[in-house]
Amino acid sequence: MNAVGIDLGGTSAKLAVVDSEGKILQHRKSVWDRREAVDDILVPLIAELKDILRSTQEGGSDVAGIGLSTPGYLNDDRTGIIYAANLQMLNGFPLVKTLEEETGMRVMMDTDVNAGGLAEAVLGAGKDFKRVLFVSIGTGLGGSLIVDRKLVRHTRHGIGHLGHIILQPDGEICGCGNRGCVETLVSAQGIHRIAEKILPHYPTSILYEYSRSGKKIEALDIYLAARDKSDTAAVEILQQEGAWLGLALYNFCAICAPEVIVVGGGLSEAGNFILDKARDVLNERLNPDLYGKVEIKQSHFGVNAGVVGNAVNVMQLIRKNIT
Ligand SMILES: [Zn+2]
Repeated sequence: MNAVGIDLGGTSAKLAVVDSEGKILQHRKSVWDRREAVDDILVPLIAELKDILRSTQEGGSDVAGIGLSTPGYLNDDRTGIIYAANLQMLNGFPLVKTLEEETGMRVMMDTDVNAGGLAEAVLGAGKDFKRVLFVSIGTGLGGSLIVDRKLVRHTRHGIGHLGHIILQPDGEICGCGNRGCVETLVSAQGIHRIAEKILPHYPTSILYEYSRSGKKIEALDIYLAARDKSDTAAVEILQQEGAWLGLALYNFCAICAPEVIVVGGGLSEAGNFILDKARDVLNERLNPDLYGKVEIKQSHFGVNAGVVGNAVNVMQLIRKNIT
């Protein structure tokens, strides 16, 4: 069985035909020149979608359905977006109905963190475990829980807002209005803040020069400086970020009791510099009598977790309807 996964972002969409093993058979990208009206997004997206469906069918393969994830808040029945700051023209628009009418196929919509988690739990780094917590760290931090290869939905769509657990009551102000949420520390903005505090103590660091030139330091810059140049400041920044991540994961374990935590999203590119420290902090605090052993793994699908997970999501739905 094959399905199309669509990972809709703020400025572009990734589309892929994925088989039931998670292998990407074809992929495309739809980029929008304008983002003012619904059609600025939908016209190029639907053209790309029809093209990928046509070429798959011409190649002799069938597509069972289409899975789609979007940023923002979805409505209760997951047929459209209530609010997405970066895709405001789609707020309230019947996205699923429109795509179903245009393609004649079943379309299933979900949040991006649910899609990524499903990909990892069913086919990726969490596939050998029963209870998988997926944590995606990028601009913000989100999580999804998958038990027995099925998404847990005890709030409207998932397991609540892990990024807004408070780690530091007197910390920085979060977008939600509170102070010191996980997201203010463990995210792209969090690592940037840590870098700004640490770098003045390391004036010989290549990152210090970089920051003085007015460039914004990204997680990948820090990772590369640590890996390729053994830059002491870069290692220190990643370790501090890893320590906050470990503390956050401990709190997530207390809520979700996973057997494995799969870390994905942009910040996971910094890999083991962050994850090793997070493992140490988690293991120091974790009571094995309560939680057993909890593994931390890096995402298997990386930037493709969204498209693969969306395809898995619709394949699961169709299989359920068949059997
Ligand atoms: Zn918050």
